[in-house]
Amino acid sequence: MCLIADSTVQQVREYSDIVGVISEYVTLKKRGRNFIGLCPFHSEKTPSFTVSPEKQIFHCFGCHESGDLISFVQKVDSLTFVEAVTVIAQRAGIVVEETRGSASQYHTDFDTIRDMLALLLAKYQTFLAESGPTVSYLADRGVLKDSFEMFQLGFSPSSFDAASFLKKEGASDDIIDRTGVFYRTDQGQFRSRFSGRLIFPVLDYQRRVTGFGGRVMQSGNSDRSVAKYVNSQESRLFNKRKLLYGIGLAKPAIKKAGFAILMEGYMDVLMAHQFGFAHSVGVMGTALTKEQVQLIKRFTDTVYLAFDNDQAGQMAMQKSYQVLAPFGMTVKCLSMSEKDPADILLAHDADYFQGLIDQAVPVLDRLIETSVNALPNREIDTVSKCLGQLLDVVKLNPSKVVQDHYVGILAQELEIDREIILAQIRKTRYNVVSSLKFSKKDHTSKYLKAASFLAYVSATDQSYRESLRSKLEGIDFIDPDYVKLMGIIIGSDLYNQALYDEIEDDELKKKYGALLIEGEQVFTKVNVTQQIDECIGVLKEYYVSKRREEIKVAIREIEKTGKDTEQILMLLNELKELKSSREQLNYG
Ligand SMILES: [Zn+2]
Repeated sequence: MCLIADSTVQQVREYSDIVGVISEYVTLKKRGRNFIGLCPFHSEKTPSFTVSPEKQIFHCFGCHESGDLISFVQKVDSLTFVEAVTVIAQRAGIVVEETRGSASQYHTDFDTIRDMLALLLAKYQTFLAESGPTVSYLADRGVLKDSFEMFQLGFSPSSFDAASFLKKEGASDDIIDRTGVFYRTDQGQFRSRFSGRLIFPVLDYQRRVTGFGGRVMQSGNSDRSVAKYVNSQESRLFNKRKLLYGIGLAKPAIKKAGFAILMEGYMDVLMAHQFGFAHSVGVMGTALTKEQVQLIKRFTDTVYLAFDNDQAGQMAMQKSYQVLAPFGMTVKCLSMSEKDPADILLAHDADYFQGLIDQAVPVLDRLIETSVNALPNREIDTVSKCLGQLLDVVKLNPSKVVQDHYVGILAQELEIDREIILAQIRKTRYNVVSSLKFSKKDHTSKYLKAASFLAYVSATDQSYRESLRSKLEGIDFIDPDYVKLMGIIIGSDLYNQALYDEIEDDELKKKYGALLIEGEQVFTKVNVTQQIDECIGVLKEYYVSKRREEIKVAIREIEKTGKDTEQILMLLNELKELKSSREQLNYG
C-alpha cells in the first residue's frame, strides 16, 4: 500500500544526488570513488561511514548500517517511508503526486497542520508589530528589532480568536485540535494556550514551524497560578525530544565554529544570536535527549554547556553529559557568574562572553572539582561513595584514553590508589561497550569471504553471474542470509542499486547494501574467473567438512541405538566419496 503515487516514488529512486542529501547531515570527504564521514548512527571518532555515488548506497563499516537514500532519510530523521520520499522529492523539486484513498489522509493532514501554524505565526507577527507595550517590553529586555524579526517573534492579543481565524482558513475541528495550540473548555470550545502571550515560534532544522512557546505578557496580571512560559501541546510535529530552539538559524554557524553552545531558555538563545554567538541552541526546558544529541551531531561533535551555576544547573550539566558522552561528544562547560546567558550578555558584552567560552573547561573536570569540594569529610565511606558516583559518569566516555586520564585525576584528588580505581572501572567497562550493540559477526572467515565474493561479483557483473549460474549446484552459502540473497541475485536480471529496490526483506536489503560497498573495497578485479573458481573450491570444502562431521555424528547415533547396518554402510560410502572429492579439491 503506497500513499504516494508510484511515479513519484520512481522519480525519487532515480534522483541520484545521494551525496548532496547525506551531506546535509554528515560532513563527507571524497575518498577514491566514494565519500566518507562520521557515522550518524553510532558513536565514532574515525570515519567508517561510506557513501557510494555510483551505487547510490551508503554503508557503515562500524555498525553495519546500510541502505539507499530513502532509507537513510527515514532512519536519520525517524520518518516513515512516505515522509522520507516527500522530503527528498521536495529537495529535488519533484512534484509529489498522491494516490487517492483514506490512507493518504494522514500525510495531507500533516501538511495542513504545518500550513495552519504558518498562517497563525504570520498573524502573530503582525500583532506584535502593532502592539506598543509588547514591543517596548522587548526593547526593555534589550532585544533589538532585527533579533525579533530573525526569530519571528509574535504576539497573541487576548482579543484574538485564533480558532475562528483557522476555521476561516478552512481548518476542520480535528485539524484545529491537532495544531497543539488549543485546549478545549468543558463545553467543547477552543481556547488558545497563548492568549495574551509573547510568541516564540519553534522551528525544526528545516525551519518549518512545529509549534510555539509563549511568555505571559499582561503586566497587570499578578496571578501566580499563571505559568510564565507555556508550550504547544506535545505531538508528532511538536516533539520537544527532537527539537532544539534556534537550530535552523544556528546550523551554518555551528559548522563554522566547530561547536554548538547549549542553553536553557528561549531568551538566552535569542540574546546569544544577537550578540554574535549564532552557534547557540536551546533545549527548551527539558533534559537533553538522545534525539537532540543526534541532531547536534550532524553538525559538530563538540558541545559547550551554558547552564546556570546553581545546583539545578549542575545537575542539568551532569545529566546532559550522560546523554552526550556515549556519542563520543566532547563536552565543555562555561563558568557562569550570573544566572543565565541572557543576563550575562546584557550586564557585560560579547567580549566578556567570548572570554567565558575561551575559558570553558571539560565537564568532567568541573564535576570532579565540585564533588570533591563538596565532600563533608574524608572518611572512607564518604570518599568511596563519591568515587562511585564520579566513576559512573567517567565510564560513559567511550575513549579509554579519556577514562584513564580521569582515573589519574580521581586517584590524586581522592587520594586513592590508581589500581583500585582501575579495577573498579574495568568491572563495569564492558557494560558500556555492550550497550552500543555492535554486530560482532566474524566477517573475515575464509568461508564467509568466499561466499561474499561470489555474491558480490554476481550482483555487479552480468557475465560473471551467467557463468556462475551453472557452477553453484551443491554449494552451501553458510550464512542463511547469504543463501537467500544468492537465490535472489542469481534469479534476477537486475544489478547493483536496481536489484536493491527489488529486495523486500529489510535485513536482506541491509546485507545487500553492505555487500555492494564492502565488496568493492575488499575484492580486486584481477583474475576474477580464477578467484571465482577458488571461492567455489573453498565453499565446497566447507560443505564437505560439514557433511563429514554430520555423517560421523549420525553413524555414532545409529551404533548407539540399534544395528541398522544398511544405513551405516550408506553413510560410510558417502563419507568415502566426500573424502575423495576433498582430495580432488586439495590437489586438483
Ligand atoms: Zn555506523
